[in-house]
Amino acid sequence: MSDYPGKETFKLGFGYMRLPHLADGSNDIKQIYEMVDLFMEAGGTYFDTAYVYDGGRSEEALKASLIDRYPRSSYTVCTKMNAWLGKPSEQQTKRQLEISLKRTGLTYFDYYLLHALQPGNWKLYDEYGLWDYVAEQKQKGILKNIGFSYHADPELLDKLLTRHPEVDFIQLQINYADWDNPGVEARANYEVAMKHNVPITVMEPVKGGALANPINEVKAIFDSANENASYASWAIRYAASLDKVITVLSGMSSIDQMKDNLSYMRDFKALSGKEREVIKRAQLALAKDKSIPCTGCRYCVADCPSNIPIPDIIALRNAYAFDIDLSDAKKEYERITSGKGKASQCVFCHKCAHTCPQHLGVPKIMRECSIAFE
Ligand code: SF4
Ligand code: SF4
Repeated sequence: MSDYPGKETFKLGFGYMRLPHLADGSNDIKQIYEMVDLFMEAGGTYFDTAYVYDGGRSEEALKASLIDRYPRSSYTVCTKMNAWLGKPSEQQTKRQLEISLKRTGLTYFDYYLLHALQPGNWKLYDEYGLWDYVAEQKQKGILKNIGFSYHADPELLDKLLTRHPEVDFIQLQINYADWDNPGVEARANYEVAMKHNVPITVMEPVKGGALANPINEVKAIFDSANENASYASWAIRYAASLDKVITVLSGMSSIDQMKDNLSYMRDFKALSGKEREVIKRAQLALAKDKSIPCTGCRYCVADCPSNIPIPDIIALRNAYAFDIDLSDAKKEYERITSGKGKASQCVFCHKCAHTCPQHLGVPKIMRECSIAFE
């Protein structure tokens, strides 16, 4: 493997996007403490959050669970500046850095990303002068490494990396299911990053949790190869085996997930040739999966004028897609949409479709779900 900044980083990063919550919706901070302790004890160092995650509670949880409890030299923190979610002005977007520093109590960030660039929003980062802004903050020592996270095609990625050779790293969605998926183009994006010699952090290695519980055909392939390995382990080790990976982010939501991830990442070993063959068979079998590949990021929810719980409805659709009797699904649908918008209240404004990093045709999906569940 080649040399690159971040090469020595522990290959599992702790993503603060899907933290465990209590029944009242607040962070389950006791469980998060324990997860952090297990992670740090195993040698983990990289923590990933964002200004917009959970309305700011993710950065606050990071302060309480890590920053107030561990010496600054024992970890690195990545957070992100978002120019499009909730339509902030230029000033409001720039202020996000100051607010992130305040929320976390840090004086600098080790890694900093312009958040979730894609065709509908990347020009805003130019218009607001954010590339220069983060470069200036790096000059001042407030940011140590700058980059962007990305959810679009390899052509735009090539253009951005050509225009911005100053970036130190980028964050890409990579998992074995999306490697050749034309909607994500993980392989092609990875190859563009390598062409520009830019190290990467990996997001969605388990595809929003879907690869921790894949379709039965895929489970059977993995079980016959190694019945002791979790399905998530195949996915995370796949991403971590790529060259120039700083770390693979796992948005862990429980102590059990943390323990499982650490069991194979503590002494990480890249996939063997034989294991790569197993993954190839799983990739072929996945072609039969008809689930809608929503990762549950919830970016679409904020701007929906009808307040429709889009990812919850899609998860329901995936769970019940092949059931003939939908009576249980309909009860669950009533529960998740109670006090919120129903799929039939979609006004086809397409705001969600422009926001969705997975490029899902949400309005059409809502129409299908309204027919199935209402
Ligand atoms: S298209 Fe429908 S689901 Fe999407 S944001 Fe508009 S109203 Fe909400
Ligand atoms: S529909 Fe798209 S934006 Fe909404 S939660 Fe799913 S992946 Fe995220």
